[in-house]
Amino acid sequence: MDYQTILEKVSKAVAPLTGEGKVADYIPALANVNPNKYAVCIDSIDGNLYAVGDADERFSLQSITKVFSLAMCLSIKGEELWTRVGKEPSGTAFNSLVQLEVEGMPRNPFINAGAIVLADVLLTSFPDPEARFLSFVRELCGSDTVDYNLEVAHSEREAGYLNAAIVNLLKYHKKIERDVEEVLAFYFKMCSIEMNCKELARAFLAFANHSRFDYAGVSLTLSQVKRINAVMQTCGFYDEAGEFSYLVGLPGKSGVGGGIAAVYPRRYSVAVWSPRLNSKGNSVMGMKTLELLTTETMESIF
Ligand code: GLN
Repeated sequence: MDYQTILEKVSKAVAPLTGEGKVADYIPALANVNPNKYAVCIDSIDGNLYAVGDADERFSLQSITKVFSLAMCLSIKGEELWTRVGKEPSGTAFNSLVQLEVEGMPRNPFINAGAIVLADVLLTSFPDPEARFLSFVRELCGSDTVDYNLEVAHSEREAGYLNAAIVNLLKYHKKIERDVEEVLAFYFKMCSIEMNCKELARAFLAFANHSRFDYAGVSLTLSQVKRINAVMQTCGFYDEAGEFSYLVGLPGKSGVGGGIAAVYPRRYSVAVWSPRLNSKGNSVMGMKTLELLTTETMESIF
């Protein structure tokens, strides 16, 4: 398949959408990002890289990092992890408190409440969780300059009233062990990791379920990787998971930095970045790019 030509065609086709949507400005440091940036990159298991646009420019991964925390927590806890967090789609916004109040446990690891529980699992599992998480992520993407962005993490803490409410509700329900401020700080720090589309595609190639998953001491069976894909498919886009599944047909994960990473199992991973978001917090051009990619190629999991 000539992916380079397809990506060029798709990126031209989505260009008229430039200007639609809104950059995530509830995190003050993200409000300054150039909204017109755009990149898409495919990394294939047979060793080819295809890229269009600003694919060397790093951006804030935000909720995409929840896939990395899930991988780490699953490798530590195995199936027992699911006693701390559910694996059902929420059908609500990523930062919603509603179900947590009624059910007392986060629906899944990809909404904020669930990822905050994962942060607590990591904090209680390692003496040096920040360093551990970073070395895992660096090994996944093959770059040792990938890092946390402390300015973004601090800026999010300053405006992070809703996430502070979530962590307090979790503490009330005895769902986290550590101190609320410590958990929140680590959660925001994980969200602040930056990568470019080439690095992000490389990081997700590990989830394309094609070979041994063993990175910086984090090892998963192929069955566990398959299940992470299942959670991405059902929960990766919050209350738009059904729409993404319908339009794109690949397991994936979005972030409010405007990135989306997805995998075509055993074939390739794809990363796309465009900062303007729709009302659900997913990249407008990113979603359209992936929809057109799987339409053009006729390749999806369905
Ligand atoms: N750090 C962001 C938050 O907690 C992540 C949200 C996202 O990317 N959907 O609100």
